[in-house]
Amino acid sequence: MIALAISIGTFEIPALFWSPRISKLSAHIHLNQCRLHPSICRFDAIGLTMKNFQGAYRLWKHSFDHPTNRRLLFNFRSSFSGLTNNLTRMSGRNAFYHNQIVPECNSFLRSYGRGLVAAFCKYENNCFQIHYRNLTSMASTPTRNKSFSVINSDDINYFKNILGDKGVAQEEEKLEDANMDWMRKYKGSSKLMLQPRSTQEVSQILEYCNSRYLAVVPQGGNTGLVGGSVPVFDEVIVNMSAMNNILSFDKVSGVLVCEAGCILENLMSFLDNEGFIMPLDLGAKGSCQIGGNVSTNAGGLRLVRYGSLHGSVLGLEAVLANGTVLDMLGTLRKDNTGYDLKHLFIGSEGSLGIITKVSILTPPKLSSINVAFLACEDYTSCQKLLFEARRKLGEILSAFEFLDINAMDLVLKHLDGLRNPLPSSKHNFYVLIETTGSIQSHDNEKLEAFLVQSVESGLVTDGVLAQDINQASAFWQIREGLPEALMKAGAVYKYDLSIPLEWMYDLVEEMRNRLGTSANVVAYGHLGDSNLHLNISTPLYDKNVLSKIEPFVYDWTSKHRGSISAEHGLGSMKANKIHYSKSAETVELMWCIKRLLDPKGILNPYKVLPTSLSSWSK
Ligand code: FAD
Repeated sequence: MIALAISIGTFEIPALFWSPRISKLSAHIHLNQCRLHPSICRFDAIGLTMKNFQGAYRLWKHSFDHPTNRRLLFNFRSSFSGLTNNLTRMSGRNAFYHNQIVPECNSFLRSYGRGLVAAFCKYENNCFQIHYRNLTSMASTPTRNKSFSVINSDDINYFKNILGDKGVAQEEEKLEDANMDWMRKYKGSSKLMLQPRSTQEVSQILEYCNSRYLAVVPQGGNTGLVGGSVPVFDEVIVNMSAMNNILSFDKVSGVLVCEAGCILENLMSFLDNEGFIMPLDLGAKGSCQIGGNVSTNAGGLRLVRYGSLHGSVLGLEAVLANGTVLDMLGTLRKDNTGYDLKHLFIGSEGSLGIITKVSILTPPKLSSINVAFLACEDYTSCQKLLFEARRKLGEILSAFEFLDINAMDLVLKHLDGLRNPLPSSKHNFYVLIETTGSIQSHDNEKLEAFLVQSVESGLVTDGVLAQDINQASAFWQIREGLPEALMKAGAVYKYDLSIPLEWMYDLVEEMRNRLGTSANVVAYGHLGDSNLHLNISTPLYDKNVLSKIEPFVYDWTSKHRGSISAEHGLGSMKANKIHYSKSAETVELMWCIKRLLDPKGILNPYKVLPTSLSSWSK
C-alpha cells in the first residue's frame, strides 16, 4: 500500500484511494443533510464519485483506520436521488471504536447500491468541522464475483452422471441462444446449460453448485425483458424446459398442478379442452413458462379481471440453493398455518430458489367474449373511459389496454399483415376493451349501452366491435405485437412503470420534450392496472439519449409514488435502481432473506438486489 496521505481540508485519506477508483472529485455543501450539534459551526463538504461500492467502503475503512481520523469520524450517511439515510451518528470521541462502528456501517453500506455520503467531524479551533464525502457509485456494470468457481471437467462429468448427456449442453449454438435475452440486449458467456427433468435433479444440481461455489441462472422461456434470465458472466444456466408435465387438474375446483417448465400457451390449450382458462395471458405466451411467469410475478392482459399471481398461485415447490426441496405445493384456497412462504418466491426472479412445480387456480372459460377497439382524442378521455367501463361493464370487464398514436404507427409500419381497425382518420389514443361473461345477450346489452354512452358523451370518437373471433384476434395482435414491432424498429429503451393513472401520460409528454426528435417515444400498456410501458425507440443505442432518459425516468416515477417495475421485475437492468421504489429498510430485509436462503449468493447473482450487496457477500 502507498503510505502517503493526502489531506482534504482537515481530513486525511490514504493516497491509495487517489487512484482510478475515484473517477471524479467534486465538492458539495450538504447543510440540509446534517442535524447540527449546537457546538457545530462550520461545514466542509467533499464529494467523491466512486466507481463501485467496494471502493467506497475501503475508502471509508482506511480513512477510519488512520489514527487522527478515527477521532474525527462523526457521521456516515448514504445519499441517492436526494434521499439521505443516517447510519452511524456519534457525538463524542468515546464513540469511535472500530468494532462498534464498522458493523453498523456495514449494514448501512449494504443498503445501497448507488450512493454513499460519509461525514466526518473534527473539533478544531473551538468548533466542530464536518466533512462530507459523497461516495456515489453508479455501479451499473458489475464485476465478476471472484469467489465463484469456474467450471471444470470434473463438474461436467458430475452433471453428465446425474442428467445424462442429453441434459448437459456445451455446444456453442445451443449456448448462444441461452446466453442472449429476447431483446438481444443482454449477453452472458456461460459455457454450460443444464436441463433437469425432475425436482430431484434440480436439487442435485444446486447442492453441487452450492458446494462448488458455482453461480447459477435459472432460465424459463427466456422472454424476460430486464436481463434476468441470462447469465451476466459465466453462470451455469439451469433451463427448465424439460420439466413440462401437467401433473393434475381438478375440474371442480379448477386447480391445475404442473411442472415449472410448461409453456403458458400449452397450458392454455390444455385448459381450453377442459373448459377453463389460465388466469394470466401475455404476448410471450408461446415461449414463456409458468415457472418464469411465477418467478417474475407476470401481470399481463387479464390482471384487471383475475388479479395477480399472488392471488391465483395456490402452491409451489421450490429448490433452495443448497438443494433443499421446499414442498409448498398446496392446492387449498385457504391455509392460514403460519407464514405463507410461497409468496417469497413469486416475483423473486430466481434469486431465492428454483421453482419446480406450481399449483394454480384457473377460472372457467366463459362463452361470451367481446372485443372493442376504440379511439379517444386525449388521455383524459381514456381515463374517464376506464372509470365508466369499471362502473358500467362491472364483472364482465376482462381487459382494458391502451396505445398512443406513435405506438399504432409503429406497429403498422413494422408488422406485416396488420391493419388499423379505425382507418378513416388518425386518433391520438386507442383503447382495446375485452369483456367475458356467460350470457351473450346480457354482455352485448351491457357493452352496447356503454359504447353508445361513451360516444354520445364524446369520450370515444370512433370505434369498432369485433364481429368474430378472427377480428377479435386481429385487434389483439395490434396490442400484443408492439414489443416485436419495437424490436424491429431498432434500439429500444424499455420502461415498465406503475404510475397513478392521473399522472401517467404526463411522463410520456415530458419525455418527448426532453428527447425532441432524437427518439420516438412510444406509449402503451395495461391502463386498467395503471401500468405504462414507456418505450423509447432509436435507430441505435446511444449514450446521449440514455443520459437524457435515466435517471430522469426513475426520479419522476419515484416522485409520483410509482413503481419502476410494474410487472417485468428488476433483473440486471434495474437491480441498482431498486431504491427508487423500495425503502432502505425494505431492501435491507430483502438482503437478509436472500442471505438466509442463499448464503453463498449463487442464485442469479447481480440481479434483483443492488450489485454492491452481491459483491459484499464474500
Ligand atoms: P425467463 O425470461 O426465462 O426468466 C425470467 C426470470 O425468472 C429470470 O430472472 C429467471 O432467472 C427466472 N426464472 C425463470 N424460470 C424460473 C424458475 N423455474 N424458477 C426460478 N426462477 C425462474 N411480462 C408481463 O408481466 N406482462 C406482459 O404483458 C408481458 N408481455 C410480454 C410480451 C412479449 C412479446 C415479451 C417478449 C415479453 C413479455 N413479458 C411480459 C415479459 C416476460 O414474458 C415475462 O416476464 C415472463 O413471465 C417470463 O417468463 P419466462 O419463462 O420467459 O422467464
